[in-house]
Amino acid sequence: MNRYILCQHCGGRINSADNLVTAFVIFSVVPYHRRCYSHALQGCQAVVVSNRPVNSVMGTAGAALGLALAIAIFLGISPFQGGMRLALGAAVMAAPIARIYSYLAYERHLDPD
Ligand SMILES: [Zn+2]
Repeated sequence: MNRYILCQHCGGRINSADNLVTAFVIFSVVPYHRRCYSHALQGCQAVVVSNRPVNSVMGTAGAALGLALAIAIFLGISPFQGGMRLALGAAVMAAPIARIYSYLAYERHLDPD
């Protein structure tokens, strides 16, 4: 079930999961070639492109930590109450949602080699 994944920087097709880097850009997750991601970080896009790829080991670890924090916050294990608790819970859910979106929208459509 392959589908065309196009690089946000050069517009070229990304053929394998090993060559894919997904990054959080403003309020979306976008795909890059590995080399294009480093070019984007060095160029004028560096202001809006996160410097931690969503589909990296650290991105996955951050998503797992965010999910654990969100569960703790929503269960009431935090010093915050009411609207502040909901806002904080929603904020820490951004990383897990971005990680899941990265997998569903891009990674699962590419072969690993
Ligand atoms: Zn590219």
